[in-house]
Amino acid sequence: MEAGVIGLGAEHLDGKEYAVVSETIGAAMEHGMNMMDVFMPGSDVRRKIGRAIKNNREKFILQGHIGSTDINQQYDISRDVATCRRYFEGLLADLGTGYIDFGMLFFIDSERHLDEVFHSGVVKYAEDLKRNGVIRAIGASSHNPVIARKIVETGIVELLMFSVNPAFDMMPSEKDVLDCVEGGFDKSVMLGMDAKRMELYQTCEKLEIPITVMKTLGGGKLVSPAHTPFARPLTVGQCIHYALTRPAVASALIGCRSGREVEEAVACLTADPASLDYTEAIRGMGAGFQGSCVYCGHCQPCPAGIDIAAATKYLDIALLDADVVNMGAGQHYRELAAHGSDCVRCGSCESKCPFSVPIIGNMERAVQVFGV
Ligand code: SF4
Ligand code: SF4
Repeated sequence: MEAGVIGLGAEHLDGKEYAVVSETIGAAMEHGMNMMDVFMPGSDVRRKIGRAIKNNREKFILQGHIGSTDINQQYDISRDVATCRRYFEGLLADLGTGYIDFGMLFFIDSERHLDEVFHSGVVKYAEDLKRNGVIRAIGASSHNPVIARKIVETGIVELLMFSVNPAFDMMPSEKDVLDCVEGGFDKSVMLGMDAKRMELYQTCEKLEIPITVMKTLGGGKLVSPAHTPFARPLTVGQCIHYALTRPAVASALIGCRSGREVEEAVACLTADPASLDYTEAIRGMGAGFQGSCVYCGHCQPCPAGIDIAAATKYLDIALLDADVVNMGAGQHYRELAAHGSDCVRCGSCESKCPFSVPIIGNMERAVQVFGV
């Protein structure tokens, strides 16, 4: 399965007229946004989506969630297998499709959720769906980096949907990011990149488990002048660029509500790279970044043609786990157009890096680790 780097989160189509659903999905298809998340449990929106993709089902990679229900309130969670089955079969029927690409184990944010899903009939139900060809692969969704790492290390899950944006990445892993989406960000705890989140991304890259990103715009707060925790709001393009430059991220999903919003999202793919630079926003948040690469690309261009952000990303992954030197990250590193061994120590990058990363030393380290 090959996903476009920008995908569609269909949540905001809930409650919309069919014309809006059809226009948004039509624009997404036109622009190669083929990854679509449909977690909503209500039949009305799912039927409209089914109608909109009816003649183009195979052009989409759908995420459908096992355990997403609307029993007690609009959006609810169930771990009861019979209920999960009823809603998942309802999803297939509403969409008018015989299969879902990723059957997602829904909303696993705590040890209790982990236990409920992986030590119950829910995971067995997902495995049966896969065995019977009703889903092509098993995924899972989470907002908690510690729990998400445990999920991907089960060996059962082939894709992770995770909440990624620069504000969440600066929050301690024990904080519930959804509280910030509801109640606003607490800037006093946002002091640097949270190590647990970085480890999650690196683990996914190592295990070759792709991440699809939810909350790319922090529920809209990061692009809102009134709600952004940063000195100024980020742009949609900057948020997408940030998500796509994390290790393992395959597709950043955006909750578009119109063809115009689809076009606004994909515009970043052809935008001036300078307009996507998010470093100013991050730099103003505290001293916790000094020396750590955030893969922003601000240090480019390199006269030797090294993609410094990518080379450093693969180096960081290899430093976490030497096993990847001859596979995954190591392979990706070797496929880069230029390598640490091409560095001429001009220092141009170090003078531009806002986070004082010892880039020349990193390039030397990359040569020691990868051999080139
Ligand atoms: S070395 Fe610095 S400027 Fe370059 S990608 Fe990393 S953090 Fe950004
Ligand atoms: S010091 Fe090396 S990595 Fe940095 S810009 Fe110069 S050649 Fe490129």
